[in-house]
Parts: sequence; C-alpha cells; structure tokens
Amino acid sequence: MINRRKFVSTLGKGAAASLFITACNSKEAPELILHDANIITSNPTQAKAQAIAISKGRIVAVGSNADILHLANGKTKKIKLSGKTITPGFIDAHSHPASSGRQHLRNVDCDLRSIKAIQDAFRDRSLKTPPGDWLSGFKYDDTKTAEGRYITRYDLDEVSTKHPIFIRHRGGHTAYVNSKALEMAGIDRNTADPDGGMIARDENGEATGFLKENAVELVGDLIPNEFTAKDNQAGVKLITEMMSKTGVTSVTDAYGSKELLQAYRDAYAADELSSRIYCMIGYFDIEDMIAQGMKTGDGDEWLRIGGMKITCDGSISERTARLSEPYKGRPNDYGIIVMDEEEIYSYAVKAHRAGWQIGIHANGDVGIDKSLNVYERLDAEFPREDPRFRLEHCTVINESLVQRIKALNAIPNPFSTYVYFHGEKMKEYGKERLEHMFAVRSFLDAGIKVTQTSDYPPGPFEPMMALQSSVTRTDMSGNVWGPSQKISIEEAIKVGTIHGAYASYEEDIKGSLEEGKLADLVVLEKDPTAVDPFSIIDIKVERTMVNGKWVYES
Ligand SMILES: [Zn+2]
Repeated sequence: MINRRKFVSTLGKGAAASLFITACNSKEAPELILHDANIITSNPTQAKAQAIAISKGRIVAVGSNADILHLANGKTKKIKLSGKTITPGFIDAHSHPASSGRQHLRNVDCDLRSIKAIQDAFRDRSLKTPPGDWLSGFKYDDTKTAEGRYITRYDLDEVSTKHPIFIRHRGGHTAYVNSKALEMAGIDRNTADPDGGMIARDENGEATGFLKENAVELVGDLIPNEFTAKDNQAGVKLITEMMSKTGVTSVTDAYGSKELLQAYRDAYAADELSSRIYCMIGYFDIEDMIAQGMKTGDGDEWLRIGGMKITCDGSISERTARLSEPYKGRPNDYGIIVMDEEEIYSYAVKAHRAGWQIGIHANGDVGIDKSLNVYERLDAEFPREDPRFRLEHCTVINESLVQRIKALNAIPNPFSTYVYFHGEKMKEYGKERLEHMFAVRSFLDAGIKVTQTSDYPPGPFEPMMALQSSVTRTDMSGNVWGPSQKISIEEAIKVGTIHGAYASYEEDIKGSLEEGKLADLVVLEKDPTAVDPFSIIDIKVERTMVNGKWVYES
C-alpha cells in the first residue's frame, strides 16, 4: 500500500523483464488456476490454451489442463470453466473516463430517443435546481432523436428561461444552449464566429443555440467547475466499474489534465480503480508537467502518464472533421481545422524533446496530413528512438497517408464502435469514402499496429460491439459501410488487446495471456470466433479479472 500512494517509479523494459524472471523462478504453487477453458491468448507462439495459472497478480503459466493442473497444491484455488472462453482483458486505447465518469454522477444523460424526452429530463432536473444555476447535459446525439432535427434554443427555452442550459453533443465538439445561456455569454446576431468555431444561425441571422468547435467554450467557459476532487474521484470509481463490466481492463484517457490525473491518483490510493489507466495530458498542462520533471511512462502498471494530447481538426460524429472533399449534400462544407500546424508544432516540439509521446487528434484526411507533417518534421529535426507517434482517430485515410504512417511507425487509434452505432451519420460521408474510413484492414495490411478505441462518450465502449462492428462493418439497421475494411474476428481481438498494449509501451507486461504478464483477462459466455458474427454483441461478459482479482462477476 505504501508504493501505490507514491507516483514516482518508472516501469520500463528492464523492470518488466525482472518481473518476468521473478514469476518464472517462483517455486510456489499458483494461487489460482482457471481450467477447462477455451483460451484465446493473443500470443502468436501459443494462440490457444486450456488452462492458466495465476499468482500475485501475474500469469505464471499457460497451457493444457494436464500441464497446468499439476502445478497445483492443496492451497491452490481451482475454477473449472467448462468450455467458457477466456481472452486477454480489452484495452480501450482512447476514451475519456474521468471526465465522463463525473458527468454520469451529476449531469443529465441525454442518450434519449426524442427531443421531448430530453426536455422532460431537463424539466425534472430544473425542479431540483435553483433558478440561475446551470443545467448541464451530455451524450446528446442529433441523429438519434425521433424529430429528425437539431434541438434548438427554443426547445430548451420551453424547459426554462430562468436556468441557463448547456448540452454537450456526445461527440464533444458541439453544444446546444438556451436563450438564457446565449444572453449570459453575450452572443447575439452581431457576434462574430470565433477562430476555429461557428455560431449556427437561422435564416434571419439569429443564433439557434447550436455552437460548433471553438464557439462551444464561449458558453462552456461560463459554467463554474462544480466538481470537487471527491466528485472526480467518485467519477473515476464509477466509470472504471462500468467499463470493467464489459471486459475493459485498461483504458487510455485521451485528454487528461493535472486535475483529472489527480482524480486517478486519488481513486488508486483508495483502491477504487477497476481498470488500469494510461493518462494522456492535454497540451495546456504540458509545460507545467515538464517543469516538474514528468514524462510519458512515469507511474506504475495501474496508473501511468501517457502522451501529450493536442487537437488538429473536428469530429466525425458531429461532422466537423476537415476533409479534402466536402460533406455529402453540403458542397461548401469541408469541416474545421481547430489548430494550425505551426501552433501544434510549437507544443509538440517541447513535449517530444522532453521525452513525451504525442497524440494528435486528426479525423479528416486534411487533418491527418497536417499532423503527419508535424511528426515528420520532429522526426527529421529531433530524431528519437521509438517515439510511437499517435494519430487519435485517424479516420479518413488514403494510400499515401498509410505509407507515411508506416514510415514513421506511428499508431492510428480509430473509432471501433462507430460503424455499428453511428451508421445513420455515415451517409454524410458517403459509401465510397467509407471504404477509406476506420480503415483497420488497410492499417493491418501495411503492418501498422492499429488499436481498438471507443472515444467514450462519443462511442459506446463495449468491446463486443467493437468486435462485431470491425468484423461485419454493418450498422444496427443492417446497412454495410466500407466492407473492404472488414477484418477477421481473430484480428479484431489482437487489435483490442496486444495492439492497445503497444500503444502505451506496455506490450511486455500486458495485452496477451502469457507467462510473466499481468493477470488481466475476461471470461466470456461464448466464443466470439465461433458464433455468427452478427451475434458477437450479444455475448455476455461473465467475469473480468484485473491484476489476478475479479473486478466483475455476473
Ligand atoms: Zn477523444
């Protein structure tokens, strides 16, 4: 317990190797054996096994029932799994656990199927909230409400004109506010769009309450940060429990900060983490952290500092990603560049030289091109061994971008549940472009270590949905999007496990089930490689183990 309160040690390759030797030299019988299982290991030298032995949070052996059961003594606990499937724990290589966890505690969950239902939910909340205080919502999705249109300031004015109302889209790049909030932000028909942002207006030039990209914070910045350190900690506890129930054992927070890092530290110290965290840090906090001597990889196998995160362009789910060809049906709309190349470079070069991994949010092919320009420049000017440059999302690609990604050995982190869950948005990209989106097949064929990500809240985090989406490229209504990018279920499991470990420099300690690695695994009701691919999403996660302990048992 002393160690876990500290946050100083670095577990590099040397430490991982010594851990491996300790595990192998152990003459003691294992604490736990799982046997009579169908084990999918993500280890190419031993793809399948029947039994696994675990001690002190680590895997001590993997093999046949006969090989493993004879390691037991009287004290070894044995669990017979009767043919159930075990996979390595899934690694969500890009999501937003701490910031979404605290929203689950406090804000209105707008994942509802009509504007009317959202109005009702806010009306309920307004009755418990003093006039003048903010009402905030999250996970709103304009394409999933029955009315088939955006929610407007006038819909929200029907809820309240006394409370300012602010709803964030589940994609996170746009917001929807009422008249009171616009008034408090001083936004009227004469207000100019900010750089990298847009205030949507009706035919008379009046703001509709719909704010895009850098216009969001014109209102968002007015909302007092009502979350205390205790709230943040409780949010982390809640969201890591929610994620672990679905088979996620490690998560990369793709936009952490000093404040959110503290929330993870507090939850870790209180033994409340149900999944491991790799915490990327937003560019705005990076100079401070460099000054404190911190860098990527600091921490331990539960909580580690990730790369620096910075954003280049807009969002896929909200259709603001910067594209070389316009959105379907909007011939003048190419999306938005949020930060130009020179400014990104100015932050990236400091982080790169201080030993930080870098992750640039780049969705559209134009955004990806600009991000690669930055990486190529860093690589030429300040070459560093194994920088593992990350491209967050890396959604719309072409052959030349793939070749440049491969040449840098960079890591794309595309949305894994979007085809299934956000199918209705895909028509704005078009069938042809979808053959080059979430392009996991293209990345694997080029030998690129692409990961599985949810970007939660924008996408759901259930790994079974990610697997089905990647394998079938079919949305929940049965439409197929970009079938040339289908991958096999075996490939999808590797993408969701060992590739995720690589993206955080942890492939030596997790991501596959093999001797010496951390005992992070999932027990599934059925074998995803043996069922109808359209029923993978229905496979129940029966148990989830992190560090040799069950964090979830159904
Ligand atoms: Zn994100």
